[in-house]
Amino acid sequence: MISPMTDPVPPRAEIVVDLAAIRHNVGILKDLVSVDGPVQVMAVVKADGYGHGMVEAAGAARDGGADWLGVATIEEALALRAAGDRGPLLCWLSAPGDDFASAVAAGVEVTAYTFAELDEIAAVGGARVQLKVDTGLSRGGAARADWQPFFAAAATHEAAGRVHVTGIWSHFAASDEPAHPANDAQEAAFRDALRLAEEAGLDPEVTHLANSAAAILRPSSHFDLVRCGIASYGLDPAPGVTPGLGLRPAMTVRARLVMSKPVAAGDGVSYGHTWHADEDTTVGLVPAGYGDGIPRAAGNTASVWVDDSLRPVRGRVCMDQLVVDLHGELPPTGTEVILFGPGDRGEPTAQDWADAVGTISYEIVTRVGGRLVRRHVDTDDTDTDDIDTDDDSEGTTR
Ligand SMILES: *Cc1c(COP(=O)(O)O)cnc(C)c1O
Repeated sequence: MISPMTDPVPPRAEIVVDLAAIRHNVGILKDLVSVDGPVQVMAVVKADGYGHGMVEAAGAARDGGADWLGVATIEEALALRAAGDRGPLLCWLSAPGDDFASAVAAGVEVTAYTFAELDEIAAVGGARVQLKVDTGLSRGGAARADWQPFFAAAATHEAAGRVHVTGIWSHFAASDEPAHPANDAQEAAFRDALRLAEEAGLDPEVTHLANSAAAILRPSSHFDLVRCGIASYGLDPAPGVTPGLGLRPAMTVRARLVMSKPVAAGDGVSYGHTWHADEDTTVGLVPAGYGDGIPRAAGNTASVWVDDSLRPVRGRVCMDQLVVDLHGELPPTGTEVILFGPGDRGEPTAQDWADAVGTISYEIVTRVGGRLVRRHVDTDDTDTDDIDTDDDSEGTTR
């Protein structure tokens, strides 16, 4: 449990990330997918570790048993290498002009979606490349009609010693809806792709299809490894469907109350007066707003936690601040406000915020940041001197 009162300097508002939770979650996922034989786990740490801090999240995931790390861009992969990560690492989203040579030199596995990308990667020499096939998401990856010639082109490059084809993979469109017909169709298509790859003479080290939801809900899709993003951070990839696995949300967003004061029945609150007090009450000012990644759509919908109670956001969320209903109480300036956290104390979760604003928990945790200070703690560490504050690196990593 995070102990707010041990902070040396109470921050205005901060993101506290518990690395023990990430370790724990990756361990749970690893055990879960390995029940019928070994399956590797790739922890996905793109987008600054879904807002949790890429390097720190990656370290915790490795400690928790992640065999691989996965990121979108080459820049993200190189940042992990610069931070000292040396393990298996895959990136999968390149744009024209990307620096494949640096990725290859750093031992990063790259992904090819197109013939042009494959040729560009082959021209570097010595790349470990994975091939992505589009099995039905209709996003990145080789189109079905191209699979055969794409695999043939890769096999030609491999035979000439220009690349090593280490993986073939694809990505689900609706794994958070286990009954969605796209899941069976995509898995069948992926098996077709693997047959064609074999016919082309490819023998990849790993084949993979599953993200968090499929890792948890669809064992038939595990293949050699699963790519787990959101579940590594303790959030539910398929709300309402995921069984209780004991995942622990790693992120808490909290602030210090700036002021509290009475408002009279009929008073309008915040820009546009979209909320009026229907009786005399009190409100509190929370110093975080959409400039910090708090969704503006949370106005009049989300709640925060103050003094052991849920306090609804009243009126519009502003750029720097928001107002909550304190129900007649006047807690002192500096009182802790938890916007969202693991939910252990009754506070809202990132999922509650997602439900309130009509999005997914992924967006809530990934977008929060702005001026908020991010601090990593390790709740398995009883020695509080070990708390690692990374305030001064903020702004460059997000
Ligand atoms: C982001 C991403 C993942 C992780 O998905 P989660 O639902 O967060 O587990 C896996 N694979 C690819 C290709 C991704 O882009």
